[in-house]
Amino acid sequence: MAYNQNNIFAKIIRGEIPCQKVYEDQEILAFHDINPKAKTHVLIVPKAAYISWDDFAMQATSSQTAALMKAIPIVARKLGLEKQGYRIIANHGHHAHQEVPHFHLHLLGGNPLGPLVQS
Ligand code: AMP
Repeated sequence: MAYNQNNIFAKIIRGEIPCQKVYEDQEILAFHDINPKAKTHVLIVPKAAYISWDDFAMQATSSQTAALMKAIPIVARKLGLEKQGYRIIANHGHHAHQEVPHFHLHLLGGNPLGPLVQS
């Protein structure tokens, strides 16, 4: 599958659609999810064009990978989540219910999150 430049996160990164920004650096944009699944629900999005976790993990440069890893605790601290805890989720593909085909991590916290997967 080819990367689609018109997906909604590509438009947010290009500044064509607004977002509630939490953090930005050269490689990363983080913003609040429009339909939060926890008290705090932020999306941590590499700016480069990768479709999913699978694509990113296989193709990204070391500096892109490092930037993403570092952004997680930076954003968590900005939101005051590091003491009580938080969860990171990456959905890849159909079975994981990935809706937006631009790689992103979900950062969830602010309240007890319950079991990892509910059936
Ligand atoms: P996923 O199913 O992993 O692809 O998650 C996509 C997430 O993007 C969902 O949690 C949506 O609520 C969220 N989302 C979709 N459009 C927007 C938007 N314009 N701003 C912020 N979050 C969005």
